[in-house]
Amino acid sequence: MKFISTRGQTPPVSFSEAVALGLAPDGGLFLPESLPDLSGRWQGWAKLSYPELLREFFTLFATDIPAEDLARMAAAAYTKFDHPDVAPLRRLDERTWVLELFHGPTLAFKDFALQFLGHLYEHQCITRNQSLTVLGATSGDTGAAAIHGLLGRARAKIFILYPDGRVSPLQERQMACTGAENVFALAVDGTFDDAQAAMKTIFEDQEFRVRHRLSAVNSINLARVLAQCVYYLWAWLRLPPDTRGDFEFVVPTGNFGNVLAGWLVQKMGVPISGFRVATNQNDILYRLFTTGDYALAEVHPSHAPSMDIQVASNFERFLYFAEDRDPARVRAVMEEFKRTGRYKFANFKRDSITASRTSDAEIAHIIRDVHTRYGYVVDPHTACGFKDLSKHRPSLVLATAHPAKFPEVIKESIGCESTHPTLEALKAKPLEKHRIPATVAAVRAFIEAHG
Ligand SMILES: *Cc1c(COP(=O)(O)O)cnc(C)c1O
Repeated sequence: MKFISTRGQTPPVSFSEAVALGLAPDGGLFLPESLPDLSGRWQGWAKLSYPELLREFFTLFATDIPAEDLARMAAAAYTKFDHPDVAPLRRLDERTWVLELFHGPTLAFKDFALQFLGHLYEHQCITRNQSLTVLGATSGDTGAAAIHGLLGRARAKIFILYPDGRVSPLQERQMACTGAENVFALAVDGTFDDAQAAMKTIFEDQEFRVRHRLSAVNSINLARVLAQCVYYLWAWLRLPPDTRGDFEFVVPTGNFGNVLAGWLVQKMGVPISGFRVATNQNDILYRLFTTGDYALAEVHPSHAPSMDIQVASNFERFLYFAEDRDPARVRAVMEEFKRTGRYKFANFKRDSITASRTSDAEIAHIIRDVHTRYGYVVDPHTACGFKDLSKHRPSLVLATAHPAKFPEVIKESIGCESTHPTLEALKAKPLEKHRIPATVAAVRAFIEAHG
């Protein structure tokens, strides 16, 4: 299996190359050259454990990784999850189901991709006999999940920049209380934008980049999307066979990575009837899917911070299919969007995807309502998925984070605390953060000293 760029100006690469590169050199995103047809296969997968399903699925894509290595990585990838099903499915009533994706080490769905990616990175280091330095800037969740994916891995060091005092105390503890020698949590004296600007400048320095084998933690790595496909398959195989063809999968959405994974599973021949993109008040995707207008707006911080985005970077992969796999069309749309901050589609093909938008006031109301109705507590991101559930067909809502990660909103909404032993344990651990100025020179010097 080879992988192509959405912009069509990069020669096809192997799975391992696509993972190592992250972004394609032409600025596009990698996709499989052709999507495998699962329609004759998924029936035989119903009895597999989660790691076995992961292995079977990746065997179709990671054709340049030896089968026994893939099996070993798949078996090890989710051993830090605290539920035997890895992604348990829970039924709230006749027509409402929840897929719990928060049983990993950082209690959010990003662990599904980053735990497995940690193994893939380590495998590459070992087969190429190289080391790796991962550098990223985060406003919270992605940094924590990336750190826990690389925790204690041989030959990899990870440096994560975050704005000092501007991530939640729990998020900071998830990054800075690991006790691992290969992890460096750098609290930058500045904003997230300052941290990100410093990181970008460092990546532009070819000499430094090559010497330290610098790699980015980015949300667009193909392996992340493929790892997320697996829980859609897993959930699908566990829904009641007589009605599963009617279910709408409801996905709290920011960068479009999560919902894209499900949509690809449908394109591979698993008959999922449709998807709903559930946004918070930062609603660029809601506007796109309801009006065909893809237009930037200012970000307004919300109760669901991991969905506070401007540009949904993974949307380009969907666009490639919507534009009939024509890279020239993708380039034209992306160029105009970059230049003007807007693209108005004359005839937007939203396929089987609908959208909803949830304000902060509605989030608090929904958390209360779901708790009263089912005695179940949802986090603010998952709450967005409960807005306007379909009256015509059953829904499967993806629960993307554990409510205990957002104690203030939960307390305010239902009047009691949500706790989790992993988070409680963090409160007792020593904080090992490194305060540094928000300058390129300071970050560079830190990596030189510790890399
Ligand atoms: C990252 C994140 C999201 C958004 O996921 P995308 O793949 O960016 O759409 C939703 N909920 C939580 C808790 C997240 O951490």
